[in-house]
Amino acid sequence: LAENGTTGVELSIVVPIFNEQENIPLLFQKLEAAIAPITPDYEIVVVNDGSRDNSLGLLRQEAKRNSHIKVVSFSRNFGHQIAITAGMEFSKGDAVVIIDADLQDPPELLPQLIDEYEKGSDIVHTTRTSREGESAIKMLITRAAYRIINFTSDIEFPKNSGIFKLLSRRAVNELLKLKEKDPYLRGLMTWVGFKQSQVYYKRERRFAGQPHYPLLRSINPARTFVLGIVSFSLMPLNVCLLLGFLTSFSAFLYLIAVVVMKFMDINLPGWSALMSAILFLGGMQLTTTGVLGLYIGRIYTEAKNRPLYVIESTLGFDT
Ligand code: UDP
Ligand code: MG
Repeated sequence: LAENGTTGVELSIVVPIFNEQENIPLLFQKLEAAIAPITPDYEIVVVNDGSRDNSLGLLRQEAKRNSHIKVVSFSRNFGHQIAITAGMEFSKGDAVVIIDADLQDPPELLPQLIDEYEKGSDIVHTTRTSREGESAIKMLITRAAYRIINFTSDIEFPKNSGIFKLLSRRAVNELLKLKEKDPYLRGLMTWVGFKQSQVYYKRERRFAGQPHYPLLRSINPARTFVLGIVSFSLMPLNVCLLLGFLTSFSAFLYLIAVVVMKFMDINLPGWSALMSAILFLGGMQLTTTGVLGLYIGRIYTEAKNRPLYVIESTLGFDT
């Protein structure tokens, strides 16, 4: 930023929105308050991800009030990651900031993000040092999940860093070339490379409304965890193979023992040994088949090659 805190960088803010009517007024108030001292040259690209409340009505009003606000509205709910992807596709700025609508991530961080960008970073991550309103257990699980994802992949993902990031135009363009059907965006943003840096902050409680965790849907944390692993690593497959080898090897040793005992006239253990062997092997087979399924599922999703989303309407774009 220049001495007076302004920048010549053309700024795009991308906001995914799904049922956020309680947050929309304050969201724009805060965003605009954060942007105003920095630059007059900005756009806010809002993606309405099939909201069922009055979000779209409110967004229309906001777009009418402020011509910098542009709205892309999906024909139904396609999920957080897809909404962000669409927002990036519609954005034009030199620097693109992605931020959730629920004000958990502070727009007040914008100057710091732009500062890092102007110092030459293509990706500026924001890393939460603590999270308001989230239990210690959830924090612990989150941290363990990040550690496991990092352990399985060759890329080092910043821990405790969500989707609230700044990306340069060339980083966005590279990301958009990927065209993955079920993208793990925060991973892919690291995958892109270039110079990356981090800004630290405290994550707030959701301002209003409930988090959207439709079971087994896009933003479900357990699903995101699995996605983080299978989209960057083949390690689970290798572990399955290793387990298979180990089981076969121990079965072979046991077979020798059985033969030896037979010749030494030792009574073979019966029903319970058989039962545990069957259950153990059955469990192992189902697990490894399940892991295979995760990868085959991803191939299936890619192979169908459906478009990522369907747009119902747009508002505020030139063409
Ligand atoms: N969101 C979305 N589509 C969805 C679910 C969520 O666009 O299917 C948006 C939501 O409006 C919010 C952001 O994605 O702006 C993050 O959602 P949420 O706060 O529920 O997730 P969390 O912060 O708990 O991870
Ligand atoms: Mg949230």
